[in-house]
Amino acid sequence: MNSQYVPASKCRYFTYCLFFAFWFSGCVCSQTVQEVITCYAAAYPETVLPKETGLLVNGHYMAVSGVNHQSFQEKLNDATLTDQLSYPYYQEFRAPTFNEDPGRFRNADFFDAMYGDNQAAIQQSLVKVMWEPTGSYVRFTSINKANEALANVGTELAGMPSLKTYVMNTNGTFNYRVIAGTSRKSAHAYGIAIDIKFPAPLYQYWRWRECKPSEECTYPEPLLSDKKLQQIVRIFEKNGFIWGGKWSHYDSMHFEYRPELLHKQCQFNRREK
Ligand SMILES: [Zn+2]
Repeated sequence: MNSQYVPASKCRYFTYCLFFAFWFSGCVCSQTVQEVITCYAAAYPETVLPKETGLLVNGHYMAVSGVNHQSFQEKLNDATLTDQLSYPYYQEFRAPTFNEDPGRFRNADFFDAMYGDNQAAIQQSLVKVMWEPTGSYVRFTSINKANEALANVGTELAGMPSLKTYVMNTNGTFNYRVIAGTSRKSAHAYGIAIDIKFPAPLYQYWRWRECKPSEECTYPEPLLSDKKLQQIVRIFEKNGFIWGGKWSHYDSMHFEYRPELLHKQCQFNRREK
């Protein structure tokens, strides 16, 4: 007997089920899925290809489910591609609301597919980037031309003497590690983040303040009032980087290449929490 044989009646039943499943899911969330697909493809034109119900990320297919978790912890621990965009990255300098952390939700499969799923693979794409303010080299990924984006930031800052002194101490770029206090891979592990040790009142990390992950932490006032810091942040943002100082769980030294949070085709409103 042919093991591939399937009775015709079962075949029809299966086809109907598939049809209704697609029809129903399309009614519920096709617009959301389409927005998500369009956003990633626009933000990462070098590496992401839009597909009907998903993305081709650096050659790896990823379905876009449209699932937008409701709880903050679920978004943090198990982010979907939709969750990853779910808190808009805002332009102004203001104290974020509790748990407003645009960019802290990262879909691990997306970053693994994009930049490499192990240290050796990630390191293959690392290149030396001249950080012009100090004239020293740092390591950064060349995928998505993130290295060029970082070099552009450094060049612009080096040409502004009043800002240059703020960015003389880089505290690291590539580092294959997890995020402190978690088992999730850091953006530094992918070579897409740089830390800068700003002058003392501007050098702030929520974990140094004895804040608990689930409790609101007082946002450091100096981050809101320093005009030079804000100019620096704007230059990074212009080049596709988000700033950890805009997080409720703030990390003011941290800049991360995340064009999907800044691209104009990703500015749809989905601020569900
Ligand atoms: Zn960092």
